[in-house]
This record gives sequence, structure tokens and C-alpha cells, in this order.
Amino acid sequence: MPDTTFNIAVLAGDGIGHEITSPTLDLLNLACSKAARDGDSLSLTYQHLEAGAGTYQKAGIALPDETVEQVRQADAILLACMGDPAVRYPDGTEIVPQIELRFRLGLFAGMRPVRAIPGVPVPLADPRFAEVDFVLVRESIEGLFAPDRAGTRSESEATETLLITREVSEKLFNHVFMLATQRQSTGRPGHVTCVDKANVFAAFAFFRDLFDETASRYPDLQTEHAYVDAMAMHMVNRPWDYDVLVTENMFGDILSDLGAALMGGMGYAPSADVGENHAVFQPCHGTAPDIAGQGIANPTAMILSGAMMLEWIGERHNSAIATAAGQRITAAVDRAFAPGELRTCELGGDAGVDKVVSAVRRQLESG
Ligand code: ATP
Repeated sequence: MPDTTFNIAVLAGDGIGHEITSPTLDLLNLACSKAARDGDSLSLTYQHLEAGAGTYQKAGIALPDETVEQVRQADAILLACMGDPAVRYPDGTEIVPQIELRFRLGLFAGMRPVRAIPGVPVPLADPRFAEVDFVLVRESIEGLFAPDRAGTRSESEATETLLITREVSEKLFNHVFMLATQRQSTGRPGHVTCVDKANVFAAFAFFRDLFDETASRYPDLQTEHAYVDAMAMHMVNRPWDYDVLVTENMFGDILSDLGAALMGGMGYAPSADVGENHAVFQPCHGTAPDIAGQGIANPTAMILSGAMMLEWIGERHNSAIATAAGQRITAAVDRAFAPGELRTCELGGDAGVDKVVSAVRRQLESG
């Protein structure tokens, strides 16, 4: 049977990273074998690479050049979480190689899907919550986080720079409109909202103008603008009205945590940082050092990030099996939680890594 192989760079990182990575890789393998059909099969090979606070302690560098070289060769990158508040650079800042990777690989689009997982308790009681299914796209390499534009500080004042460039914004908006078009083909409304603060800041007025320029090339999609403060309110009182949102780096950082809370918490929120040539798939949460090593972490965000990775590989390499494998994982997660009996530890239950992974595995095996 013809077999296609994709090479995945795996960065388990620190904290709960290792305990959620290994069982996720097993689930990805199982999903690929279940998706094989019509004489075609798909295999993943995993290359485990070093980066993070533990690597910094051992080798004096958090993101070794060899790791960057290897991830550049990979078909996709799966990253768990990195950092440890107890391990810092001499200037006192935390170790965040996952952010450095975004800059070095040009990963301009941070995709943060927000979706109701049936059976997971959520903070909003409205029955329309079951319809929530939108993607927040966070520009990820400039805005208020632009590198090489360190803020200034004196005795009397401090400043920061918020950088918006035409080059990155055009790539971002093209990506977002293609995403909305692709979602529209699966029955979503084809609606893109630009989230900014164009009424106050010149940089955001520019961002909005560039959004409108790209929008004019997609007449089949509907668009609207929203101010970020209003959007924080709308995400709580009518999140079911949104399809694709796009915003600047800092606003996206804040709104994506709100999105994760809507899904039930950080343990449920997957993400992808996508560029023209590379993509990193990673749960939204950090290393959770307070619970590391106890097996009580919720692996769902990591599993769903793996599903996003397979779907991205499927689209990029025109691999129907990879797409199907990713969709099988998402469907298995939904079926595992749907009866409402699987309650993860951060929501007061007793389901940690083993229980969640076993429940998803059972669904994959039977699906
Ligand atoms: P970072 O700044 O690296 O994103 P953070 O400081 O915001 O990290 P996290 O490491 O995400 O914080 O942890 C925040 C809280 O959420 C902690 O109490 C942690 O135990 C909990 N938490 C994070 N991820 C998970 C998970 N997968 N399962 C259960 N609890 C989690």
C-alpha cells in the first residue's frame, strides 16, 4: 500500500510538556492508521528536539541553533510548552523560546480556534453557546511585540513602539480571507471581523485600511470592523455571531485568553502559529509548573493542536488522509466529552492525562 511519510519536529519543552506530548503522539499515529483508505496510508516520524528552560539550564542556551535548523527541515512542528518561572536569564526575564521561534520562522498568523466542545462545562449558560465556532487570528511577529524595538524608560517616562507594516499585514489578511473562504466551503458564514482601535491610533487606522484593501478582493465574504473594547464584550455576550476575527499581536494575546476561558479553560484551547513556509502547533497554556509531574494536566489542548497540525498538513500537501486523521481526532475528542462524565482536574474532576487520553483513544478505535 503506498505510504506517505511526514516528518514532525517535536518540542516537548518543560513542565507538563513531556507528560502531554508522548500520549498525544500515540493518538496521532492511531488516527493516521484509522484514516488509511483506498490503498493509501500515512505515517508520521517524530524527531524529538531540545529547547526550553531545561535546555537553558543544561546547555546555557534556550533555543539551540541545531534545533532551529532541524525544525526548518520538518514538515510541521508540534510544541507542548516552554518556560519555568524559576529559571530566568541574568536580566530576570523568563525563557520563552517559543516566541523567538515565531520571529525566526516568520510565523505571522496565530490561529486560536474557539469552539464549544459538547459536554465541557462553560461559563455561559445561553443555549446558543453550543453554536460557538470562530477562529481568532492574532498577528504574531509585530504590533506591540515587534522585536528590535525595545521600549525606552527614563526617570520620568517610558515608551513602547507598536509596529504595523504593509508587508506583514497583507500576508496576514490574505491568510485570514483564505481561511474564511475555506470555512465558508464547509458551511460557515464567511464573515471576517477586523478588531482594532482605529478611532484613536494611527497604526490601527493603517491596519484597518490594509484590511479593507484585501477585503475588496473577496466580494463573497462579509466584513465588519469592531473596536477591541467592544469585542471583549461581544465575545462574552454573543460569541456565536463570529466566524473569523483578526487583530494585532497584543490585542490577540489578551482576547485569546478570553477565548480559551469561553471553551472551558486553557487546557482545552489549541493553537497554531503559521507562516509562509513553517507552522508550529501548540496548546495555548503554559508549562503549569504547579501541577507538573502529577499526571493531572488536561491534555485536550495538546491533542487538538495535533489535530490542527494534521489538517494543516492535509491542506498543504493535498493529503486527504492527513485531513481525515485530523478530523477524526477532533470528532473523537467531542465524543469523549459529550456524555459530560469526563471532568478534567482544572474543572474540579479527576480526569488527568491518562483518563482523557484513554477516552479519546476508545473513541478513535471505535470511530
Ligand atoms: P505562560 O505565561 O507560559 O503562558 P501562565 O503563567 O499563563 O503560562 P500556565 O502555565 O498556563 O500559566 O498555568 C496557569 C494555570 O493554569 C496554572 O494554575 C496551571 O496549573 C493551569 N493549567 C495550565 N495548563 C493546564 C492544563 N493543560 N491542565 C490543567 N491545568 C492547567
